[in-house]
Amino acid sequence: MKLCDLHCDTLTECRKKGEGIARATGHISLERAACLEEWAQVFAVFVPDTLRGRDAANECDRTLDFYDAQREELARHCTPILALENANALNGDLSRLEELARRGVRLVTLTWNGANELGFGARCDPERGLTEFGKLCVRRMWELGMVPDVSHLNEAGFWDVAGMGGRMVASHSCCAALQPHGRNLSDAQIEAVIAAGGLIGLALYPEFLGGAGAAADAARHLRHIIALGGADRAALGSDFDGCTLHPSLAGIEKMPALDEELAELGFSEEIRRKFFWENGANFFGIPAL
Ligand SMILES: [Zn+2]
Repeated sequence: MKLCDLHCDTLTECRKKGEGIARATGHISLERAACLEEWAQVFAVFVPDTLRGRDAANECDRTLDFYDAQREELARHCTPILALENANALNGDLSRLEELARRGVRLVTLTWNGANELGFGARCDPERGLTEFGKLCVRRMWELGMVPDVSHLNEAGFWDVAGMGGRMVASHSCCAALQPHGRNLSDAQIEAVIAAGGLIGLALYPEFLGGAGAAADAARHLRHIIALGGADRAALGSDFDGCTLHPSLAGIEKMPALDEELAELGFSEEIRRKFFWENGANFFGIPAL
């Protein structure tokens, strides 16, 4: 199968464990991904909310350096797409976006669950929107060909981005109508991402999926996004190496089985191809990337 996955924390995990991604012991390794016919993977540089200012920027740079050291090998196995998860790594400096764009960052998660210089995350007051600096950053991202990622952002921040009229992605979130959770998207938010020509990356995290967090639960969320008009906008946003997953979904090598289970649950080959590959690949311009 062909797979384009919108979110994983493998870079940060591997860097911390001192492992190469080729034979990594987490959810993703290049060896185990060999079961895929084609593979594009968003690799997030995760920066925790506990780091501020220069410390946040330094943490980001350390993971970017780790990525640079692995890039050649990664590119032999997949189309790697770089993301920043938490724009606290900008250290409040708009010009840092240019440097990040130069280093290959294509997606920027504006906040994590807490507050930063750009806005307020999913665990903050839902009514506090983006800061002026946050709005400047979103505009600059679009100018630089980057895409703001609204996963982790609170409700008011989400609507501020949506109101600015450019492309956006929710790289790893599910449907709040099926599983009420501060990190999931309401139907109106899902419709806004669809209207913006963005992508919704379905996370496999059991707390977002509800139930056991297995294939049947992922299927319910996918069916819901499609019912809202998102057949061309739904993708996988696994969150590999970012959380504990149901054992049947806990690894890149399990994705062909997920594809088969979705087929058994009635999803057509066309829908599965769009979800696992085409929607993401089209968005990122693969293979022309
Ligand atoms: Zn995340």
